[in-house]
Amino acid sequence: MVTVLLGPPGVGKGTQGALLAEDRGWRRIVTGALLRAATGEGTELGKKARSYMDAGELVPDDLIVALVKECLARVPAGEDVIFDGFPRTVPQAESLDDALPEVDRRVDAVVVLEADDDVLVKRLSGRRSCPECGEIYNVHFSPPEKEGVCDRCGSTLVHRKDDNPETVSRRLEVYRSETEPLIRFYEASDAEVLRIEGEGTIDKVQGEIRKALEDVALERTRDGSRKVK
Ligand code: AMP
Repeated sequence: MVTVLLGPPGVGKGTQGALLAEDRGWRRIVTGALLRAATGEGTELGKKARSYMDAGELVPDDLIVALVKECLARVPAGEDVIFDGFPRTVPQAESLDDALPEVDRRVDAVVVLEADDDVLVKRLSGRRSCPECGEIYNVHFSPPEKEGVCDRCGSTLVHRKDDNPETVSRRLEVYRSETEPLIRFYEASDAEVLRIEGEGTIDKVQGEIRKALEDVALERTRDGSRKVK
């Protein structure tokens, strides 16, 4: 099964995607994290991506598509995948649709997490993440036990450079203009589009995502031609 997690920055894709992947044993492909690792290591890709990321702009499609194809090629056959932060433009979604049949897959479900901009801005300004294990905290809603330190691995938490107010508002604009149109793109496809309210507690949102995905799996099992792999 291939699932795409869509939603504006700050809606909780990282948190929800990690919980879901852990519960189901799915492979996560998180383009933002891959790009941050590349900029941190100073690879060619990282050097090219950095200025776009710092400005809250999207990294060019050709770079992202090449990165994702490379990741997909390493996923063992039969292993389920969840994309977080990809695709973010219609051309990226089209490239994914072209690439998946080559590995005998297609997009089965698209989980769209939704929230108002004022909530997103508050979440992003309070977000702190662990550069080592990827755990995400929020100083307003879910702080670590010891300020600035990851509960899970003890590393020093960071405030992402692109979580500053100006970059956040640009990222939200880019989401509305470039990424939101993907909802209609997927509604017109064979994938199930599941819209989930992302403003509740982490557990509540996770519960709703799981329930919606179970319904899709049931439906597709009943209808053999659309059976989830
Ligand atoms: P994220 O962690 O998903 O918010 O991504 C952080 C930044 O990485 C974005 O603001 C973009 O600059 C870049 N990025 C991540 N995923 C993509 C993508 N699929 N297409 C283009 N740029 C991306």
